[in-house]
Amino acid sequence: MNDNASISWQLATVKDIRVENATVKTFTLSLSHWVAHLAGQYYDIRLTAPDGYQAQRSYSVASEPGQVGEIQLTIENLAEGEVSSFMHEVVEIGDQLEVRGPIGKYFVWQPKRKEPLLLVGGGSGVVPLMAILRHRAAVGAMNYTKLLYSVRSPEHLIYAEELRKMQQEGERLAIHLTYTRSIPEQWAGYQRRVDRAILEELLHTYPETPLAYLCGPDSFVEQVAVHLVNIGLPTASILTERFGPSGS
Ligand SMILES: Cc1cc2nc3c(=O)[nH]c(=O)nc-3n(C[C@H](O)[C@H](O)[C@H](O)COP(=O)(O)OP(=O)(O)OC[C@H]3O[C@@H](n4cnc5c(N)ncnc54)[C@H](O)[C@@H]3O)c2cc1C
Repeated sequence: MNDNASISWQLATVKDIRVENATVKTFTLSLSHWVAHLAGQYYDIRLTAPDGYQAQRSYSVASEPGQVGEIQLTIENLAEGEVSSFMHEVVEIGDQLEVRGPIGKYFVWQPKRKEPLLLVGGGSGVVPLMAILRHRAAVGAMNYTKLLYSVRSPEHLIYAEELRKMQQEGERLAIHLTYTRSIPEQWAGYQRRVDRAILEELLHTYPETPLAYLCGPDSFVEQVAVHLVNIGLPTASILTERFGPSGS
């Protein structure tokens, strides 16, 4: 999973914990050996039990690279998940955690890339896409950009308020939600799993071939990638990050 095992572990201090929704929290970690990450990269967290047993998982950086000295990780609490449950139920402000990063060379966006962007996230797969959106906003990049965020219900949204503001203020930016299970009354947007028709509709207005960043559960990323290839997007323009085994 890691493409840079030579990166050293360091101790991070939990500076803040923000509740995003009933199952998701954002952890702000202060790092003594901070280096600026690229939007899309991730960190590993390693937990060690008193008997020496270790568990290690990867988490995308949610914050943008200009946040000097710290990173934010947004973590969904999975039922019986070893590391995510520990983060949600045990970790408190002031605690120290072993982390290493930033990791990842492929699923990254840098402002020197001027192509339009199509960001497609399922569930917590929105996290690295948020880092891209935040970085794009922070540097004033004007890439024509759409985010398609597939989520079970409004209650499961992460970053709801910030996305709403971004939609209002962001130039050349459109945020599209699709609800897959519970649809709010009066909802006029998409209300089904991401399919070819949704992607075709969104791609229709692009001035040129976009760079597509897909992130979420394995099955979600797989299906969206197949649709995009079938629509005719070159495979070189499709970047994927797979979070785990289940569907959203
Ligand atoms: C590069 C990368 C970046 C990631 N970034 C994030 C992130 O920003 N936020 C985040 O919340 N997670 C992220 N993940 C997923 C994360 O690494 C863990 O897999 C997840 O937190 C589950 O770990 P756990 O120890 O809690 O569960 P485990 O003990 O590993 O598994 C518990 C149960 O959950 C199932 N499961 C495991 N992983 C997932 C998953 N991702 N989705 C659904 N079911 C799963 C298992 O099959 C098992 O049944 C990322 C994964 C990768 C590879």
